[in-house]
Amino acid sequence: MGYQYDQDNIFAKILRKEIPCDTVCETKHSLAFKDINPASPIHILIIPKGAYINFDHFVKEASEEEIIDFNRTIAEVVQLEKLNPDLDGHGYRLIANTGLHGVQEVPHLHFHVLGGKALGPMVVR
Ligand code: AMP
Repeated sequence: MGYQYDQDNIFAKILRKEIPCDTVCETKHSLAFKDINPASPIHILIIPKGAYINFDHFVKEASEEEIIDFNRTIAEVVQLEKLNPDLDGHGYRLIANTGLHGVQEVPHLHFHVLGGKALGPMVVR
């Protein structure tokens, strides 16, 4: 069974400009905006503009152009926020919560870029 994208999810509404967001950067295929409930001093979400539920859905169905654009937009956000360790930033964490066990709340692919403080262990053990 394939994925059934929910057109009423909150990020679809942001993309249709039905609700506002705090945009960090935007490209032809991707949008980055601040998380409304930040878990760290820097907490930005990057989403593709296409209707993809999660990472495996995206990689299976997106065009090469969309995939390259999305990855470059994530890197652009890291650069804009000066998080790159090689440019004297203190680093960051990239997270893509997926499905039930990944505890994904919004069924539109998004990567979290978290930074601005030491983030602690990756998961609760
Ligand atoms: P996830 O559990 O990975 O699906 O996380 C969804 C994220 O979306 C959470 O960190 C929320 O705080 C964030 N979020 C939900 N609604 C909005 C919104 N309208 N604008 C920005 N971020 C949002």
